[in-house]
Amino acid sequence: MTERATILIVDDEISNIEIMNAALEEQYEICFATSGEGAIKVARSVLPDLILLDVLMPGIDGYEVCRTIKADQMLADVPIIFTTALDGQDSEAQGLALGAIDYVTKPIDPLILRARVRNHIELKRLRDQLAELAVTDSLTGLSNRRRLEQTLSDETARLTRTGDWLSVIMVDIDFFKLFNDTYGHPVGDRCIAMVASALNRAVRRASDLTARYGGEEFACVLPGTDFDAAMTVAKDIQAQVRSLGIPHEGSTVSSHVTVSVGVATARCEIGMDGNLWLKNADRNLYSSKLAGRDRIIGHAFNAVPPTQYQSPERAHQPQA
Ligand code: GH3
Ligand code: MG
Ligand code: MG
Repeated sequence: MTERATILIVDDEISNIEIMNAALEEQYEICFATSGEGAIKVARSVLPDLILLDVLMPGIDGYEVCRTIKADQMLADVPIIFTTALDGQDSEAQGLALGAIDYVTKPIDPLILRARVRNHIELKRLRDQLAELAVTDSLTGLSNRRRLEQTLSDETARLTRTGDWLSVIMVDIDFFKLFNDTYGHPVGDRCIAMVASALNRAVRRASDLTARYGGEEFACVLPGTDFDAAMTVAKDIQAQVRSLGIPHEGSTVSSHVTVSVGVATARCEIGMDGNLWLKNADRNLYSSKLAGRDRIIGHAFNAVPPTQYQSPERAHQPQA
């Protein structure tokens, strides 16, 4: 079942809104605004799938609304179809140049309006699917590295405004080359997918992100999560992977598949970027490997570059 798409109809004449509403209300959720100012307000609160936008309105006209929407990060991808009594190639060209996707002229022909709207809604759905695929790892369904990096950059920017905590957890399957050698690559793939699902069971908050960092390595971004809470999540990840009970004959640390984990936490401050968390978490992951695998090492760092930072009192090794 696909959800009904939402269409925002903008027109200063109620009778026009009524005609378009009658043509579309059976298939779509309809909301409307009777001014440019109202259109921007409703668009920001509803996030419609498509906007039917009158060009000539008192106050902010349709062109200006279009410019504002295209400049708004949240709304820039919403397709806009201009509706206007103006006929003339100039106004049409101007609308399209501003980023509108199409044009319908008044008086509105309900059949043409329905057909155009259906086509553009379908195209938007395909574009959204493609955009989602571009940031998704196909084997695990987790986010891929591209989305991880984007999320880290967005979250550090957002959390810097409040100086809030950000934690990153890196997870790597132990002796995975040996696992492949023993059971074969297809079983290895299935193991990676199962570890990914274990990760998703442990990392549960809506604002958290789980990503496949590459190969048999994963990264989790936990906004607003302090060090102790991140360590709790890391322990849960370790426990969830253990409870999968995947046999691993080649491992020297366990009869079953295990992971090594690195945790890094800091308050977001101006000048810090997401790579700092990745570097610190990766360093701790590396320490977990060196210390014998199947364990968690984490620390809270601060804005001081990681090479100068020593914090033995914050280093945790619950599995030592
Ligand atoms: P360590 O405990 O130090 O992490 O050892 P490891 O063997 O897990 O690490 P190493 O980096 O030496 O090997 C990683 C292995 O993961 C090698 C590579 O073939 C395998 N691998 C990477 N991506 C995939 C994948 O998508 N599917 C499968 N089946 N194997 C993969
Ligand atoms: Mg490994
Ligand atoms: Mg690895």
